[in-house]
Amino acid sequence: MRRDIIVIGGGAGGLAAALSAKEDKKDVLLIEREDRLGGILNQCIHNGFGLEVFKEEYTGPEYAEIYINKFHDAHIDFLLNTTVISLEKVEDEFILYTSSLAEGIQKYTAKAVVITTGCYERTRGSIIIPGDRPKGVITAGSAQRYLNIDGYMIGKKVFILGSGDIGLIMARRMYLEGAEVLGVAELMPYSNGLTRNIVQCLNDYDIPLFLSHTVTEIKADAENRLSQITIQQVDDHFQPIPGSKKRFDVDTLLLSIGLIPDIVLLDSLPVEYDPLTKSVKINQSCETTIPGLFIAGNSLQVHDLVDNVSKESERAGHHAAEYVSRKKTDGRTIKVLPGENVSYVSPQYIDFSWGNSEIICSLRSKQKIEKAALNVIQDGKTIVRKRLMYVVPAEMETFRLDIEDLDADSDILVSLEVLS
Ligand SMILES: Cc1cc2nc3c(=O)[nH]c(=O)nc-3n(C[C@H](O)[C@H](O)[C@H](O)COP(=O)(O)OP(=O)(O)OC[C@H]3O[C@@H](n4cnc5c(N)ncnc54)[C@H](O)[C@@H]3O)c2cc1C
Repeated sequence: MRRDIIVIGGGAGGLAAALSAKEDKKDVLLIEREDRLGGILNQCIHNGFGLEVFKEEYTGPEYAEIYINKFHDAHIDFLLNTTVISLEKVEDEFILYTSSLAEGIQKYTAKAVVITTGCYERTRGSIIIPGDRPKGVITAGSAQRYLNIDGYMIGKKVFILGSGDIGLIMARRMYLEGAEVLGVAELMPYSNGLTRNIVQCLNDYDIPLFLSHTVTEIKADAENRLSQITIQQVDDHFQPIPGSKKRFDVDTLLLSIGLIPDIVLLDSLPVEYDPLTKSVKINQSCETTIPGLFIAGNSLQVHDLVDNVSKESERAGHHAAEYVSRKKTDGRTIKVLPGENVSYVSPQYIDFSWGNSEIICSLRSKQKIEKAALNVIQDGKTIVRKRLMYVVPAEMETFRLDIEDLDADSDILVSLEVLS
């Protein structure tokens, strides 16, 4: 029950983190609450996974299988059907309690912990849509699971609210399964999904995308099943415009209105929260403000590409292993701050005691920018300037810093300049 490193969550992130920590000769245990490894990848049966890591295009389950095979080959210990229900730190040790039907409540201790618990979907309650509360209004990810894993066809006439990737992919999936997909409404004047998903999931099947629109009413039939929705165009302040109502007779409304990092396990720890990512702040080693507690994948920041989840989590695993072996040293810490047009930047801190020479940073833009320049400025000096084409909030951008170029006394500002 005493381990060097415990990895919580067995999706793409957890598998990569456990593999790299094991590669560094550490005693690793991975704990997963579902009955199989792979996480969300298991329900993503479309292709589009692995182009960066493998230079090949795989489906989600195929991508997962590659990592699961490596994981088994490395003989890493793991528990399935086991949920970590609490996490605390007492002196230098983490204490975890788990719950499973087979073993009941168990206690584990670890020198370091990697959180790779993924994210959860926003539901109807978080956006307040007036009207009835019938059956047939469900989140797109739940619908994907019912259809792709459990084999249930969840509706015949479908509308989708929100143009995030899950919504777009489910529009195509429902169409291919024979449902009539009447449209996708998006509150923003641009889509929140990857461009390739707009083309391949909507345009190719003539499914209309209503930008700057939202659902303003939901109606149920006598059996309390969804029967009709109303959508309306919104103005610049997201207020419905009178006279713009359109009604659709549907039996299913899928909600693809955002993903939130799942960090509920950190509630009992005095960790520094980042309201911009809705997760926690980290340094360049994916370490939170609690020494020895690492985080990666969708529980750190919601990723659009699994390749970035694998790479980030691999780094978290290596650093967790380094933490277990190294002597504690004190070093200076500076902040990495989001500037103009940047909604968040990660890591939020650079800790010079880690000394990693290459630092991988990621950010998201606040708005769509056709031509942009990414500027990284420290103490009035530009240390990175990179030109970017077609920057959208849906797609994460990355850049690198070299610790040798940084001054340990002043913070860094990252901004996106709009170029004409
Ligand atoms: C619909 C959809 C389509 C996508 N399409 C693409 C695509 O085309 N191309 C691409 O590259 N990427 C795509 N992605 C993104 C990518 O697949 C994900 O970002 C990535 O798989 C997330 O990995 P993760 O390990 O962070 O999270 P997850 O896969 O969600 O894994 C988290 C795991 O933690 C477990 N867990 C949570 N809490 C606990 C606990 N307390 N105790 C034990 N276990 C716990 C969960 O059961 C889960 O298995 C898509 C994602 C979605 C949802």
